[in-house]
Amino acid sequence: MNQITPSRTARGRLFFANPGPTNIPDSVLKAVAHSTVDFMSPEFLTLYDGCMEGVKRVLKTQQHVFFYTASGHGAWEAALVNVLSPGDRLLIVETGYFSEGWAEMATALGIEVVTVAADWRQGVDMKNVEAALAADTEHRIKAVGVVHNETATGVALPIPEVRAALDATGHPALLMADTISSLACFDFRMDEWGVDVVVGGSQKGLMLPTGMSFTGVSNKALAAHKLSTMPKHYMNWSAMIVRRHKSFIGTVPVSIFFGLAESLRLLEEEGLENVFARHHRLARATRAAVRHWSGNNGPELFCANPQRFSDSVTAIKMPEGHDAEALRKLCYERFNLSLGGGLGPLGGKVFRIGHMGDLNEPMVLGALAAVEMSLQGAGVPHGKGGVQAAMEWLAG
Ligand code: PLP
Repeated sequence: MNQITPSRTARGRLFFANPGPTNIPDSVLKAVAHSTVDFMSPEFLTLYDGCMEGVKRVLKTQQHVFFYTASGHGAWEAALVNVLSPGDRLLIVETGYFSEGWAEMATALGIEVVTVAADWRQGVDMKNVEAALAADTEHRIKAVGVVHNETATGVALPIPEVRAALDATGHPALLMADTISSLACFDFRMDEWGVDVVVGGSQKGLMLPTGMSFTGVSNKALAAHKLSTMPKHYMNWSAMIVRRHKSFIGTVPVSIFFGLAESLRLLEEEGLENVFARHHRLARATRAAVRHWSGNNGPELFCANPQRFSDSVTAIKMPEGHDAEALRKLCYERFNLSLGGGLGPLGGKVFRIGHMGDLNEPMVLGALAAVEMSLQGAGVPHGKGGVQAAMEWLAG
């Protein structure tokens, strides 16, 4: 008996449309199944060094990368404890559930958090970011933290505009960006955009199992690290950088690096630009379907700002009086389709379709069809023909 899904009889493949973790390509699964090797063996070191270079190419940086045996939260924490000191001020640009989570972690670590508030459906007004920086004439803000892609809302944040606000005000704060649900999904450029600390994770655009995260670190951030008095040990960059792997105080998780080497090979075989174009196509198809459903007072796009649509996840707001969780349950039990739920205050109000990672058109259309059938099955009002609209977009 399958203990996770006792109430359903699932046949065929689980259609996995969560916005992370994501589908793992078969070749990555096979690579992860490699037998154990000594992490100091020459063969593994060659593979590892290749992974380090490959991740730098994905981040578009020639600076430093540190890996952690931890999910994204671990890299969040590493970013904070390595460059800040207790009592330092961190400016968080509000995006939603995940910007709040990062702010909460910083507060727990003794960092003073100030937030630039934003409407979760529109995304922040950059004038407010610039005003907050301009008002900080004593430069008490040591770092600005942004979430590139708010996975809870499907609203993306234009990082170059945050960089521009820092430059326009001549503010020296470090720029820290969470790219957990954007990296290898849509464009990100660490060095060109002047990002000092980048937080990334294994389980989304990189199509790997959960459990490995990393930070890209600029020379400026590494210099700030030398002054940081925050207690740290396992994730202390000074201790990591002198080790052979330039990461990992303990055992190196070799299996995930076998997977990473394969996922980097897949990304480079397709070409990052083509990977981004594929994500854009699938996202546009998903939005076309949702726009169609929104007729007849149906579910609508949560992101209300077309300039900020996310190409990796679409959050969909249910009409008043209809429960997103009931719809998700129906999709799962009846059609073997797994969707993301609403997070934090969006619980029950929003469901999310992830369209990132190892996905193609038929997979997205299958997910959209199961949602459309479930809308009908659950008696949720909607405009019929959303899947058709998505097909027309994709075929055109
Ligand atoms: N930041 C973003 C944007 C995320 O989407 C997530 C997880 O989904 C996290 C941070 C936290 O990462 P993890 O769940 O891997 O610890």
